[in-house]
Amino acid sequence: MNVLIVYAHTEPQSFNGALFRTAQETLRAAGHSVQTSDLYAMKFDPVSDRRNFTTVKNPDFFKQQIEEMHANESGGFAPDVEAELRKLEVCDLMIWQFPLWWFGVPGILKGWVDRVFAMGRTYGGERFYENGVFKGKRALLSLTTGGPGTAYEKGGWNGDIHAILRPIQRGMLRFVGFDVLAPHIVYSPVRISAEERTAALDAWANRLRRIEHEQPVEVGEY
Ligand SMILES: Cc1cc2nc3c(=O)[nH]c(=O)nc-3n(C[C@H](O)[C@H](O)[C@H](O)COP(=O)(O)OP(=O)(O)OC[C@H]3O[C@@H](n4cnc5c(N)ncnc54)[C@H](O)[C@@H]3O)c2cc1C
Repeated sequence: MNVLIVYAHTEPQSFNGALFRTAQETLRAAGHSVQTSDLYAMKFDPVSDRRNFTTVKNPDFFKQQIEEMHANESGGFAPDVEAELRKLEVCDLMIWQFPLWWFGVPGILKGWVDRVFAMGRTYGGERFYENGVFKGKRALLSLTTGGPGTAYEKGGWNGDIHAILRPIQRGMLRFVGFDVLAPHIVYSPVRISAEERTAALDAWANRLRRIEHEQPVEVGEY
C-alpha cells in the first residue's frame, strides 16, 4: 500500500512524535511505501486565501470554491497545495497523527484541509460520500488526549469521543470519499506510566501490521 501520514505536533520528542515514528517504521518494515506531511517541520502555511492559487478567476471578489474550480481546470494551485494534493491522490491509506485540541484537530491540520481539500479536485458535482473522489481509499485518525478515557465515554464530562470526532471523520474524510477505519486513541499519555506508554506504542504497531485487513466503521450516526 501507499500510505500518507499527516502529522501535526510541534515537538519531535512528544508522544505524538513517538506514534508518528512507530507508524513509519512499522509500515515500512511491512513493505508499504510511506509518505509523510510533517506539517510543523514543513512550516506548512495553514491560512487559506488567494495564496492557494497561481491563477485568478475573479480579481474583484474572492470566493474560494470558485477559485478552486478554476485552478483545477487551469493547473493553478500553488505549489505547496499541489504537492499535498498529489500525495493524497496516490495514497491508499491516509493516517492523521495529532493531539486533540479544543475537541478538534490542531489549527495547522485544519488549515491543511481548508487549503488542500479543494472543490473540483477533491469533491464537487455528485462526487461526495460513497461516490466521493477518494472512493476506495481508507483513512484513520490516530490521536491523543489530555483527558482520561472515562471523560470521553457517553455521559462522561466531555461526552462521547465518537460524537466529537464526527465532524472530522464524516465532515472531512468521509465527505471526500474515504472509508474511515476506527480511530486509534491514546487517552492521556501524560498521566499513564512509562510501561503503559510503551505498551500503547506496541499496540499501535501491532494494529498497523494488520491494517490492510481492517473493515471501515460507520461515521454517521451519533
Ligand atoms: C491548544 C490545546 C488544546 C487542547 N485541547 C484539548 C481537548 O480539547 N481535549 C483534551 O482531552 N486535551 C486537550 N489538550 C491536551 C492535549 O490533547 C494533550 O496534551 C496531548 O494529546 C498529549 O499528547 P503529547 O504527544 O503532546 O504528549 P507529551 O506530553 O509529549 O507526552 C506524554 C509523555 O510521553 C512521553 N514519551 C514521549 N515519547 C515516548 C516514548 N517513545 N515512549 C514512552 N514515552 C514517551 C513524554 O516524555 C511524556 O512524558 C489540548 C492541548 C492544547 C495545547
